[in-house]
Amino acid sequence: MCPGANRTFGGKMQAKSETRKRGVLPLLIAIIAVTIGVIFVGNNALWGMLRADTEANATAWGAFLVKRVPQLEQVVGGKDSRQIAEAFLRGRGEIGTMRRFRVYDRRGIERVDSDQVGFRPLGGEAPSLNKTAAGVFASSVAAFEFVEHGNGDARLYTARTMVPLIKDGETIGVLEVFSDETASWTSLQAQFRKVAMQIGALVFLAFLLPGILYLRRTGQLEFAASRLKHTVEYDALTGTLNRSAFTALLREQLSSASTREMKVAVHFIDLDRFKNINDALGHAVGDQVLSATAQRLRRAIGTRERLARLGADEFAIMQPFYTQAPEVVAQLGRDIVREMARPFFIENSEIQIGATVGYASSPRDGRTVEDLVRAADIALAHAKETARGEAVPFDPGMEAQRQYRQRIEVRLRQALARQQFEVHFQPLYGVDGHELRGFEALLRLKDEDGTPISPEVFIPIAEEIGLIGPIGHWVLLQSARTAREWPDDLVVSVNLSPMQFQSHDMPKVVREVLQQTGLPPHRLELEVTESVLITDTDKVLLALREIKSLGVSIALDDFGTGYSSLGYLWSFPFDKLKVDKSFMKDLAVEGSKSREILATIVALGKVLDLKITAEGVETKEQAEVLRSLDCDLVQGFLYGRPLDADQMATLLASRVRNEAMERASQRLRRGVGKSSIVAALKSA
Ligand code: C2E
Ligand code: MG
Ligand code: MG
Repeated sequence: MCPGANRTFGGKMQAKSETRKRGVLPLLIAIIAVTIGVIFVGNNALWGMLRADTEANATAWGAFLVKRVPQLEQVVGGKDSRQIAEAFLRGRGEIGTMRRFRVYDRRGIERVDSDQVGFRPLGGEAPSLNKTAAGVFASSVAAFEFVEHGNGDARLYTARTMVPLIKDGETIGVLEVFSDETASWTSLQAQFRKVAMQIGALVFLAFLLPGILYLRRTGQLEFAASRLKHTVEYDALTGTLNRSAFTALLREQLSSASTREMKVAVHFIDLDRFKNINDALGHAVGDQVLSATAQRLRRAIGTRERLARLGADEFAIMQPFYTQAPEVVAQLGRDIVREMARPFFIENSEIQIGATVGYASSPRDGRTVEDLVRAADIALAHAKETARGEAVPFDPGMEAQRQYRQRIEVRLRQALARQQFEVHFQPLYGVDGHELRGFEALLRLKDEDGTPISPEVFIPIAEEIGLIGPIGHWVLLQSARTAREWPDDLVVSVNLSPMQFQSHDMPKVVREVLQQTGLPPHRLELEVTESVLITDTDKVLLALREIKSLGVSIALDDFGTGYSSLGYLWSFPFDKLKVDKSFMKDLAVEGSKSREILATIVALGKVLDLKITAEGVETKEQAEVLRSLDCDLVQGFLYGRPLDADQMATLLASRVRNEAMERASQRLRRGVGKSSIVAALKSA
């Protein structure tokens, strides 16, 4: 199982347990609430029962008093109390829980207290005024108070109940009864506990079991939903976000970023040699490379950044950043490139991939998802064309360049189909500048409106879109055909692109062209640059050797601009070095670096038996230095620009004329007859 999947599965399990956690809490709260409710309601019910009981007892005692003490009215009116005491003592055996009683008159003045057994003498100590008793008298509604005393085993519960004393339907006073309710309260509580437990069991059955079942069900549903969400939002192979989820996330981030200091950057990452890996090592290895890439990128980003896989070998990173620190964006771009430049080790082989990055940031390069993504896309396309293996920021000029490039692409295809290319020829002279040795074939292409397009622009594009093969073949054929018409001593030099060696069997192509045109091999020279030897060196060297064995000579072009490794000069017997025109710039300056380097190259050429051609000679001073350095050949605007067919014909005709003139003057010097000289000159 791939690491991404592992991570994903862990995520799902977490989601499930979170669902459970979220569901258990309300269930617990519900149970606690029901329990508290039951206790509260139960307690109230117990209390109500107790109160009803004590009230009934008090009322019964009151009725007993009224019945057994005929003088009660007088007593309440403040007269005799001894009979009350007797009646109390007699009645005590009948009212089991009663411990004390008092009698009040209508105003709440205490008239009898069983603990004192006797009347308060009138006019003596002022009787206390009990407002509650007066209230009970006035309303005929009983009052009740339940008091808890002491704690533990010594805990006592007493009730204090006030009821109206009614005789013949009329309230004559108020009776206050103190009763010991410890036994009945304890027994009521015991019964309540039993009932509560039964209720608890019912609650459990009614709530908990269905609750648990419900949670299990919702947990399963959420788990399934999160799995579905994962499938919809994540890339199955790498476990990263997919394109639609990435776009949605970016949209969200952009809308919140516009109101805060936080901005968003988007990095588009393209793996440089992924197709080769897939083709050469198979898709299984390709998949492993993609997973390993995702892992590596994940490590390169922080917790705020999000990684996505947009296509086959295209990844993207969304990076929020603070407006005050925009440099983090470029830094991440560089980090990605550096991380991806390190080789991967997969199935015992070392795989070098490399990546190119294009990035854009909001709000500068775009405020909407569409604009920002387009900008990053353009930056990536630009980087892939001009700066492989680098991280390139978006620049508004890139769009114009891209459009121009697309126009060239269209023009190339059109020109190939309609045979609208031309070959121009630039003369190559011996170092004295007089002796014409041959021509370099240079390809020409014009825009539809007739504007010339530089080969430095269209050749790389033709290489990239795979057209250099047929175009190069056409140039070779055309140049060989043209050269066939030239005087026998002139050589034609044709440029070959490194891409032609990769996609074509060049020895075969050259052999066929020579056969087709009948150009003798020694009159053909092929120019290659050092870059041809960088990839697949052995294969290219083999092809070059084979071509050389046909009798064709090989020149190393633009020497001094590329890697200029002496190793290449050893490993392949070139016939010629063409020193790049950049050396001409300060060549005429005494003691300049260019002059010293050129002197060294010429010396090297002598040792290795290589002819040296100096390119781009524009001034007489440069020509003079080249002569003094003992270069072999020269080429440049000083001697002649690249010429089209008509200009070539004129040049060659004048050369023939010059040669005839030269021959005639030599004969004159040798004393040959004047008339024959005139005839010779005429024919010239
Ligand atoms: P190159 O092979 O080094 O060709 C010499 C370039 O230098 C030509 O540019 C030529 O016009 C220019 N040049 C010659 N003398 C002077 C001078 O005195 N001063 C200056 N400043 N420039 C001079 P051009 O024709 O623009 O070609 C540019 C490059 O395009 C060539 O460089 C060659 O690498 C490539 N190219 C041209 N034709 C072909 C072709 O048929 N096939 C391939 N593969 N590449 C070609
Ligand atoms: Mg050349
Ligand atoms: Mg050159």
